Amino acid sequence: MIDKISLLVIYTGGTIGMVKDKKTGTLKPFDFTHLYDDIPVLRNFDYRIDFQSFDPLLDSSNMHPSFWVRLAGVIEENYEDYEGFVVLHGTDTMAYTASAMSFMLENLNKPVIFTGSQLPMGEIRTDGRDNFINAIEIASAMDDDTPIVPEVAICFENRLFRANRTSKFNAENFGAFLSGNYSSLADIGVRIKYKQELILKPNFRKLKVHKNLDENIAILKLFPGITANVVNCALNTKELKAVILETFGAGNAPTAPWFLDMMKEAIDRGIIILNVTQCKGGTVEMGKYETGAELERIGVIGGYDITTESAVTKLMYLLGCDDLSRQEVIHFLQTSLRGEMTV
Ligand code: ASP
Repeated sequence: MIDKISLLVIYTGGTIGMVKDKKTGTLKPFDFTHLYDDIPVLRNFDYRIDFQSFDPLLDSSNMHPSFWVRLAGVIEENYEDYEGFVVLHGTDTMAYTASAMSFMLENLNKPVIFTGSQLPMGEIRTDGRDNFINAIEIASAMDDDTPIVPEVAICFENRLFRANRTSKFNAENFGAFLSGNYSSLADIGVRIKYKQELILKPNFRKLKVHKNLDENIAILKLFPGITANVVNCALNTKELKAVILETFGAGNAPTAPWFLDMMKEAIDRGIIILNVTQCKGGTVEMGKYETGAELERIGVIGGYDITTESAVTKLMYLLGCDDLSRQEVIHFLQTSLRGEMTV
């Protein structure tokens, strides 16, 4: 029986941690040492809540895989000492960082709950206060000493989403995140209603942290009128190992011979091409239309209903696993590793 639940809050930067300087009117980082004075309701939780801040704090648009390695390291170092983790992060690239954590933290059996806000914590109408309190409650939720949400998730505006299913889709609404292909894991109202059947189950194995990420990937987003020059440049990027091809609808692309020839030539050189749809909901089905079937024929890999954010971080993770052959990477791209896609 756990005596007193301990949580670690890791502040990485972003709007949530900002307050307006009364004199200058500019936004500056919130002093978390005064947290209990600023959010007195936190005293009502009977938990130990510790804080760690990143230095420097990052606007999440400056996010980089080297930072993901540091964050995964903080969770690894503190894994045995806490029941759960709350990560405060800017919203702009939260879906990328949270997806990366889901792949890097293999055998995760504790909650890692990301949150942030659209308005700084110090603003009267801030959404940060509720998001933060909800994230704390979820990170500490237990059923018989077993965490209710033993996975990486994003808690935002009364909803909890699987991290690697989300995208930021709104720059000003409080509901900034969308999980177009997987229902929320919990809905937050008067009570927090957990959807147990959708939440990953703990496997009670030892945490394994993967810190080798390979950044030699590219995203090629199709649009009507894309030129051979653009496609050629993307596919001939130095050191390139994989391309996320953002296609139309159910995974469709032009059937112009120049386009298919370039794709085929890149695949023959060993480049992996992963087909991900530009749509925010639905799945890639390359056999459905002729325009998709051609891609399948030349060896493009179908990404099912994976998000671009998840595809980016999954590829960096898989390509960084030195012991995997190209065929194994392709196999794992078509396998759901952390509930990131519906196969
Ligand atoms: N630019 C900020 C960031 O992502 C926006 C936010 O926090 O919502 O760090």
